[in-house]
Amino acid sequence: MREYRKFYIGGRWVDSAQSATFDVINPATEEVCGTVASGSAADVDKAVAAARQAFGAWSASTVAERVELLTNISAEYQNRSGDLAAALTEEMGAPTALANGFQVGLGAGHLGTAIEALQNFTFEEQRGESLVVKEPIGVCALITPWNWPMNQIAVKVFPALATGCTMVLKPSERSPFTGQVFTEILDAAGVPAGVFNLVQGDGPSVGVPLSGHPDVDMVSFTGSTRAGIDIAKNAAAGVKRVTQELGGKGPNIVLDDADFAENVSKGVVTMMLNSGQTCSAPSRMLVPNARMEEAITAAKDAAPSVTVGDPTGDYSIGPVVSESQFDKIQGLIQQGIDDGATLVTGGPGRPEGLTKGFYVQPTVFADVKNDMAIAREEIFGPVLTILGYEDIDHAIDIANDTEYGLAGFVAGADLDEARSVARRIRAGSVAINDAFDFCAPFGGYKKSGNGREWGEFGFDDYLEIKGILGYSPTPGDSE
Ligand code: NAD
Repeated sequence: MREYRKFYIGGRWVDSAQSATFDVINPATEEVCGTVASGSAADVDKAVAAARQAFGAWSASTVAERVELLTNISAEYQNRSGDLAAALTEEMGAPTALANGFQVGLGAGHLGTAIEALQNFTFEEQRGESLVVKEPIGVCALITPWNWPMNQIAVKVFPALATGCTMVLKPSERSPFTGQVFTEILDAAGVPAGVFNLVQGDGPSVGVPLSGHPDVDMVSFTGSTRAGIDIAKNAAAGVKRVTQELGGKGPNIVLDDADFAENVSKGVVTMMLNSGQTCSAPSRMLVPNARMEEAITAAKDAAPSVTVGDPTGDYSIGPVVSESQFDKIQGLIQQGIDDGATLVTGGPGRPEGLTKGFYVQPTVFADVKNDMAIAREEIFGPVLTILGYEDIDHAIDIANDTEYGLAGFVAGADLDEARSVARRIRAGSVAINDAFDFCAPFGGYKKSGNGREWGEFGFDDYLEIKGILGYSPTPGDSE
């Protein structure tokens, strides 16, 4: 049973302004596994004031000083990686192997990338008669979701630190443990007082006062499209910069010349990763109509490799995060059946033998039409939809016929064709044949958001660009 009753403000662990707390439910046991202090506008005020006070000195720090801090964080992060993984398993049901590997590994990858990008970043350059300077934007509000908690904290905190910003982090109330352990890491690594602050709580009590706070310059949000819109409205009065990483419904186009068994199987496994709770998941698999039967057979063959069970055991996926997510996913699975899609594997109800915990059967639907709810809505569970296409133009039409535009996937043997298809998908990132790159930009078109994270692209949103006109190099300077 974890107890976290203090927030991290101004370099110290401090009591919350009110004595309220909230419970965290372990989704595998449905039992309370922790109690966390619940913040309010008064805590937000204190944290923002601390960040404001620290901004002057931190914004004037040198690149070398910021690299040193990030390097210290990296060492501490390695020391505490087991603790981070344990927190992830308890609060959101991530299987131990996934938590230790991918979940914590993503944070480490983003940290390494941020250090490298910082060492090579051009903060100022002469353009003709003007000097163009990139300066830290100020105090940042970082609001994160529960599904890849460490990844989402990492892609905000590390670029904010690297660019000389100060910040207040509000993790999801469903996954507050990761944020708490992460804060201990930053404290041990010697983050200067006030540069990084943590306040826990839910959207209405902490997210709203934070995103609307008059002394916050920028809000970086990851979560649902609904909350992203609310936050943008709330921040509008202060004319703050707002970046939004929102939902997705990723198309995965399997081209006719792809190795079908291999790519359909990979598509099933990737979709189910993290119990399907991934905004960039390949949730709509598009296959040539003439090969739908082949795809169904390959998906059926692949399904048993996705094992479901206790996240502390040796299973590939654990439960979904909460009862409300469980109910929503069950409703959409039933809707898929009612709408006439072919149920290939899985279906409604818990997997056999699992009577407690928010476990969902890995489910694959085929013969799905793009106007069905299961093809349009972000299910955020282990549910794959397979749709048929006539030719490449038809596949692109279906791929782009969505309000989202976060991630896309193309699989095929002819790389020229795969590249051409990738260019035509309206999404912030498109992976050809399962490529992965920490340095590539990540973010959404359309209702999937705006702004970009990851690598050096993740720096831009934390920087103001200033032109100093008439700043010509003094003759003789270059000698
Ligand atoms: P959510 O929107 O419910 O909550 C996200 C965060 O926002 C939480 O910290 C929450 O407390 C806070 N919040 C909620 N309402 C708020 C408000 N009105 N004002 C301020 N803060 C508020 O999302 P979630 O359920 O935690 O996460 C799932 C969603 O996140 C999915 O839609 C998923 O696609 C999306 N997501 C997107 C990305 C991406 O990079 N594009 C990554 C992961 C998750």
